Amino acid sequence: MKHASPFEIVAARCWNMLNEGKPFTPIFVTGVFLLFRVGSWSDAGFWSATGLSLLLALPILVLYYWFDFPLLLRNYLWFPLLAGVLLWEPQNYGLYALALGLFFFFTVYFWGTFYYHLRIGTSWWNFKRFWKLVLKNSDSTSGNAQEQMPKFLLILLIWNHFYRLFESGGGPGEGAFSEWAQEHLLPYGLFVAALWLYSYILHANLFDWKPAENAPLTPKPATPPQAINEKVIVIVIDGMRKERFEEADAPFLKRLRAEGTEYTQMETVYPARTVVCFSSMFTGTYPREHGIRSNMVWKLGIKVESIFDSLRKVGKKGRLLGIAHLIDSMGDDVESVTAVMHNDVADRNIIERAKRIMAEQNPDLLVAQLIGVDQTGHSQGVLYDEYLQKIAGADRLIEHFVQWMEERGMLRNATLILCADHGQADGIGGHGHLDEGERFVPFFLHGPAVRQGVRIDEKTSLISMAPTLAHLLGAPFPSHSRGTVLSAALHDEKR
Ligand SMILES: [Zn+2]
Repeated sequence: MKHASPFEIVAARCWNMLNEGKPFTPIFVTGVFLLFRVGSWSDAGFWSATGLSLLLALPILVLYYWFDFPLLLRNYLWFPLLAGVLLWEPQNYGLYALALGLFFFFTVYFWGTFYYHLRIGTSWWNFKRFWKLVLKNSDSTSGNAQEQMPKFLLILLIWNHFYRLFESGGGPGEGAFSEWAQEHLLPYGLFVAALWLYSYILHANLFDWKPAENAPLTPKPATPPQAINEKVIVIVIDGMRKERFEEADAPFLKRLRAEGTEYTQMETVYPARTVVCFSSMFTGTYPREHGIRSNMVWKLGIKVESIFDSLRKVGKKGRLLGIAHLIDSMGDDVESVTAVMHNDVADRNIIERAKRIMAEQNPDLLVAQLIGVDQTGHSQGVLYDEYLQKIAGADRLIEHFVQWMEERGMLRNATLILCADHGQADGIGGHGHLDEGERFVPFFLHGPAVRQGVRIDEKTSLISMAPTLAHLLGAPFPSHSRGTVLSAALHDEKR
C-alpha cells in the first residue's frame, strides 16, 4: 500500500487547522467578516477600520481559544452571546446568516460529504445524516456546532460593532479620547473582564471529569530487565467504542479476550485525540509531559523518550504502522499509511503492509493502527449499523493477520495486545472531551506469558502500555514512564 506522500503529510496538517476547533474559530470569523464586506475592500479606510476593530475583538478571540467549554460547559456560551446582543445592537443580520450558512456548508457538505467522499469514498448523500451528527457532536473539533455557533456569533457581533463605529467616523476624535473611551471602551472592557472571570469560574468548578494524573514514575526493577517475550504485537483499533464492541459480531477478538486477560476499566487520557493517546500509550506518560496536547501539533516530536527509544537501548527494534499524523509525534519510528483511501479497503491494506513489515524487517515490537472503525464513526456515526459492521470487518482481518504470523512461527513466544486508543461519542464519532463512550476502551492481552480467562476490574490507564511493553521485551522504561506494568495479566515470571 502507498505510504503517505509529503504532500499528504502537509495537507493533513493544513486540514487540521480547519478540523481542530481552536484554530478554526479565528480563521472562520476572519474569513466570514472579510467575505461579508468583499465589496468594501477597495474603500479608503476599510482595512484600518477592520484592523482596529479586530484588535478590540482580540481579547474574546484569545479567551475563546484558551477555554474549550467542553461538554455541558458549552451550554454556558449562550449567556455571553445574549448579553452581547443586549449590549450592542446586532446590526447587519446578513453577517450572522452568512456565518451560520457557511458553518453548516463547511461542516455538513464540505467536510461531511465532499471531503469524506474524496478521501474515503463515503456516499454523496452523506449530508442527509451528517447534519444530525454535527448538531449533537461534542468533541474538540470545528464540527462541534453547539460550541462553535455561540463562539463565532459573539466574536462577529463585537467585531462588527466596532467596525461600524470606526467606519462611520465614530472613532476617538482629537482630544475627546477620554469621553470616547468612557462611552465605548469602558463597558466593553468590563464585559471582557466579566467574560474572562465567568469562563475561569466555570472551568475551575464544572470541569471535573479529567482522569486523575498523579502517578509517580514507574519503579525501576531491582535487577536488569530480562525479556519475557521475543515479540509483542499491538493492534490498536482506532476509535472502537467499548459497548459497541460488545454488541458487534467479533468472534475472533472475543475468543482472544476469553483466552487471555482483559482490563475492563482501561481509561484513555485527556484530551482523547488520536495523536495524544498514541503519544501517551508509547511514552507511558501524560500529555502535559510528552507535549502532544491535540491532533494539531505545533511543535513536532514528543518531548520525552518513547518505547521505541527504550528498545533501541537494548538493540531491539519497534515499528509503529499508522496514519501520517503520528509522524508529528513519533517521527521516524512511524511507518505511515495514506489516509486517502476508500474506507472499505483501508484496514485490509494496513494488514497487508503489517505483514510486509513483519516479513522484511522482523521487528521485536509491531504496533499497527486500524483506522476503518474510527473513520466510519466519524463519517457515519457510531450508533448506526455501519459502525458495527466495521468492527466485524476488523475482527476478520485481525484473525487473518494472527493466523499468518502463527503459520510463520512468529507468535511462539509473543504477546498480542488488542485495544482502542479512545472510544467515540455520539455525533460525528467525536472524541476528545471524554463524553459518554470515549473514556474506557477495550483492552486485552493474549499469549503464552498471559494468564488465561482473567478479568481485571481495577481502573488502569493506557499509559501502562509503554512500561508493559518494556517489561515484556526486557527494555528499560521510557524516561518519563508513569504507567504501571500490567503484571497482573502475566504468569508468575520466575517460572
Ligand atoms: Zn483515534
